[in-house]
Amino acid sequence: MNFRFATSFAALALTACATPQTDTLSVRSADTAPATKPVTGSAVSAADPRAEEAGRAMLAAGGNATDAAIAVMLALTVVEPQSSGIGGGGFMVRGAADGSLITYDGRETAPAGATPEWFLAEDGSVPPFSESVLSGLSVGVPGNLRLAEKAHAEHGSLPWAKLFEPAIALAREGFAVNNRLAGYLERLPERAGGNAQSRAIYYPGGEPLAAGSIVTNEKLAQSLERIASEGADAFYDPDFAGEIVQTVAQATPREGAMTLADIEGYAAKSRDGICSTYREYRICGMGPPTSGGVAVLQILGQLERFDLGALGQDSPVTWHLFVEAQRLAYADRELYLADSDFVSVPVAGLIDKGYLAQRSALIDPDLRAANVGPGRPEGAPIAIADGDEPEEKGTSHFAVVDDAGTMVSYTSTIEGPFGSGLMAHGFYLNNELTDFSRSPEVDGRLVANRVEGGKRPRSSMAPMVIWDPDGRPFMAVGAAGGTTIPVTTARAIIGVIDFDLSAEEALALPFIMSFGEAVFLEEGTWLADSQSAFETLGHTRLVVREAPIKGNAVLRENGRWVAARDPRIEVGLQVP
Ligand code: GLU
Repeated sequence: MNFRFATSFAALALTACATPQTDTLSVRSADTAPATKPVTGSAVSAADPRAEEAGRAMLAAGGNATDAAIAVMLALTVVEPQSSGIGGGGFMVRGAADGSLITYDGRETAPAGATPEWFLAEDGSVPPFSESVLSGLSVGVPGNLRLAEKAHAEHGSLPWAKLFEPAIALAREGFAVNNRLAGYLERLPERAGGNAQSRAIYYPGGEPLAAGSIVTNEKLAQSLERIASEGADAFYDPDFAGEIVQTVAQATPREGAMTLADIEGYAAKSRDGICSTYREYRICGMGPPTSGGVAVLQILGQLERFDLGALGQDSPVTWHLFVEAQRLAYADRELYLADSDFVSVPVAGLIDKGYLAQRSALIDPDLRAANVGPGRPEGAPIAIADGDEPEEKGTSHFAVVDDAGTMVSYTSTIEGPFGSGLMAHGFYLNNELTDFSRSPEVDGRLVANRVEGGKRPRSSMAPMVIWDPDGRPFMAVGAAGGTTIPVTTARAIIGVIDFDLSAEEALALPFIMSFGEAVFLEEGTWLADSQSAFETLGHTRLVVREAPIKGNAVLRENGRWVAARDPRIEVGLQVP
């Protein structure tokens, strides 16, 4: 497994403001309101306040959480172009006050002409990752608008065109480039300025736009206007899709490039979702093609036998247990998780409480397990091998709850920063296909997550919704950060449920992760200063790094809904 942490560009996601020290956090009760007390109000959390505003405007206009979440996705296409948008895909999880659950899969698909050797050089070798990203080979058929269309048709209440109003206004009237976007533009000109269209918008006169500059994107405003008035069909129609196909084909060095038929044939899927309990809270998320939901439920399930609340957030043992649970979950993820429409994924077996109890028995509170491999859950297929791990960092999670208590947790992505670097119609096209294993086989055995025509690449995204032990809507949470997503999400859930933290405090908890040999500790946190404690617990390869993570949540706290953003997310305009 080849885990690559974010390089300098992704570290830009870190804010200048320090991660709160755990000893200065006030511990608040998450919600002590009696079960009979009605909870009213609503909340919207997103990585950018202008996108949150778009969501709130929908709620104020009488819309519901589904409407608001779609408006957030569209606004992020404009104001956070490096992370997500209509040129990419996503997953939406909707949990209602009556406990019902639906998940929407808008994951990108590989073109029909893609083969398992898709990324390989002529001599069969795997080229450098950046070469695969910055080409038409990495672009999957975008799924976000079909997802939005389906979710809106089934659960939206406002007219479709209304959802586009804030995004169109931001694109047409302009928005201020924030510090985070300015940093990306400066550091990643080969991606952000990948073609003439994007250079004209973000590098006028050849220089990257600075923080505080007002940028307009008329091409995107017109695209959004067209899709607003004609529906999602307008995007998937050859008239519009032609520019996407042409942009991708020009950058694709082999046969099988994306066709109009690939785009016209794209379908978002409703899926059942996956659920389990953690300390009597009901936690639900997205199943394959993402590994995120399974990994979060596995990490939590393996930790349930430990009293983390009693150990506390300041104990290295707490985080040692967390790391050991991650190692087990990621070993399973590597072997079993891929698009279940193409390969058999033993989802029920992987999150079965009995199986997780067996896996948890491998965790020693006093010592790191020497070797961690995948388990044998019920329904496990044979003869699939693990694959390599792509880079990450172009994603946004957002969460909405409306006053009916409907929670919508939506993670939207174009994969890496500025996706493939190719822009069409004013938005970046994703590089999601690099989430496939670029090697089709390992040691002569086929990798489950190999490229295949029409298949969806394995994701790590983990939008989750949670009901409390009384069955009341409690939390919607998720994160960006590629393979770190399940860890960030599980940590926030533990923070709220085990440590009784507010959502923001839980999201701010220090980052610690391991799914190979090394244990990554977040620079500038007390964990990074506690290396000897982790060494005593058997973790000898400790790596102190910045943590390129950003999580978002809405949480019911003392009878009202609160929106929280990871304080690591830089939203200001001032260059530090
Ligand atoms: N494309 C990644 C995934 O679906 C997410 C990338 C990121 O979070 O930066 O898992």
